[in-house]
Amino acid sequence: MSLRRRGLGAVRRRLSAVRLLAFDVDGVLTDGAILVHPDGGESKRFHVRDGLGIVAALRAGLKVAFVSGRRSAAVAARARELGITADLQGVKEKGAEMRALRASLGVSREEVAFLGDDLVDLPAFAESGVAVAVGDAHPRVLAAADAICSAKGGGGAARELVEAVLLARGLGDALPGIAAPPPRRRA
Ligand SMILES: [Mg+2]
Repeated sequence: MSLRRRGLGAVRRRLSAVRLLAFDVDGVLTDGAILVHPDGGESKRFHVRDGLGIVAALRAGLKVAFVSGRRSAAVAARARELGITADLQGVKEKGAEMRALRASLGVSREEVAFLGDDLVDLPAFAESGVAVAVGDAHPRVLAAADAICSAKGGGGAARELVEAVLLARGLGDALPGIAAPPPRRRA
């Protein structure tokens, strides 16, 4: 079976246990680009559909965390805007951070889905019940993942995971329309 075919549908049963969605940021919620300003500040581009999905997940009672190795005011602003559960930045070792986060939130390993793209995310994969890679992740991350999003980082991969978890948990009403078949268009 090819890597590309190991989609989220294949792990639906495990996704039904997920209560915490943890996202790496650069290359997952963004396409990996960091626009560095002359004054040292930086900009990032987030996908609006990911944002809507994260808000829906929170509304449905799920917990959402950002887990980034870097520190960025832009990411902090996005985290505040979305009202996520935990904005963890400057994380040195993501496995230990995930263990601490799980303990503080009272969430078991099986109740965590982590979405990553690069080698530094592998320790977090090991601490998560469902390890998911964005479609354009590093080859070793694709190989280690339980499932792979169709979308790339910054291109709706987070939304894809959110929808899969909501549907697997029977929480499709949090995002009206996702559970229904696509409307037929008139010819
Ligand atoms: Mg990354």
